[in-house]
Amino acid sequence: MESIYNMTFDKLNLYFHNLNLKSYRTRQLFDWLYIKRIKSFKEITNIKKEVIEKLEKDFYFDNIEIKEKQTAPLVVKYLLKLSDGNTIEAVLMKHDYGNSLCISSEVGCNMACSFCESGRIKKIRNVTAGEMVLQILKIEEDLNLRISHVVIMGIGEPFDNYDNVCNFVEIVNNNYGINIGSRHITISTCGIVPKIYEFKNFPYQVNLAISLHAPNNALRSKLMPINKVYDLDALIIAVKDYLEKSNRRVTFEYIMLNEVNDTPELALELANLIKGMNAYVNLIPYNETNNLGYKRSSKERIMKFYDVLKKNKINVTIRREFGGDISAACGQLKTVKEAT
Ligand code: SAH
Repeated sequence: MESIYNMTFDKLNLYFHNLNLKSYRTRQLFDWLYIKRIKSFKEITNIKKEVIEKLEKDFYFDNIEIKEKQTAPLVVKYLLKLSDGNTIEAVLMKHDYGNSLCISSEVGCNMACSFCESGRIKKIRNVTAGEMVLQILKIEEDLNLRISHVVIMGIGEPFDNYDNVCNFVEIVNNNYGINIGSRHITISTCGIVPKIYEFKNFPYQVNLAISLHAPNNALRSKLMPINKVYDLDALIIAVKDYLEKSNRRVTFEYIMLNEVNDTPELALELANLIKGMNAYVNLIPYNETNNLGYKRSSKERIMKFYDVLKKNKINVTIRREFGGDISAACGQLKTVKEAT
């Protein structure tokens, strides 16, 4: 049996086709699942009984549970329990342009970035496409609102769970279903180079963000073990190749770690590294965690770094902060709740 929420529109089309049923059945089913939001096939009234029975044999309605919820102005953080008992987190942010949900793509994470709380617990398993869809369904239902933007920046490395993430995008982008525009979806990766090459052929105009955090190999390898596998040179070549093929812009995320990666010299090195690329840099004030020992750069250091990039004609923004007071901010999400 398969979770019905794992099924892309194309896969369902094929399923109905193999049963000698017309393809409009897929549209009907997507409507029941994602517009009417049924919880059982029994609620369907316009598909004949034999087909419903067949669907019941082949698919089940997976569910996730809200275990805990913390609310702050404009942010709600969820601890969600998957049907096998594992937990993940998701964070809803209310922006003036809409509601954005930060979802988890893995239970735990193997990337072990030295500054990130989420990576302290090794990967237990992939989050399935259906479980990513359910993060949206559950939170929309709980808050009675519509989510307009999704960022895959919660727990996990999306390109370490590539197929599920792509299926998820296909499902939520479909205009007979949840219908979130592909330009409203952002995937953030720590730089799994072969997947960046694969991603340029993914036929959806999804935003790509790269967690860079350092402009040279020595420093980046200290902060992010993945850099020892795919170094900066390989990463930048892959991103350039992606830019050429996709005609899109990428975001480089750069967290500001006090006296670690935030000097004007490093800003200049960063500017030289990415000069001429259709990219912009998002400077992220570091969210301190209890366990990892890094400190957030001061405002002055962040502004100096920003100015060097600007002077060198790099597009740069400073990320607005969300959720710090409820530990819902980037890098503070954890798979397992522990006493802090
Ligand atoms: N694995 C993916 C997505 C998850 S992390 C990736 O690496 O991109 C989302 C972003 O938050 C990444 O840029 C990550 O480096 C950053 N981040 C991690 N810990 C952080 C912290 N404590 N404060 C601010 N940003 C952090």
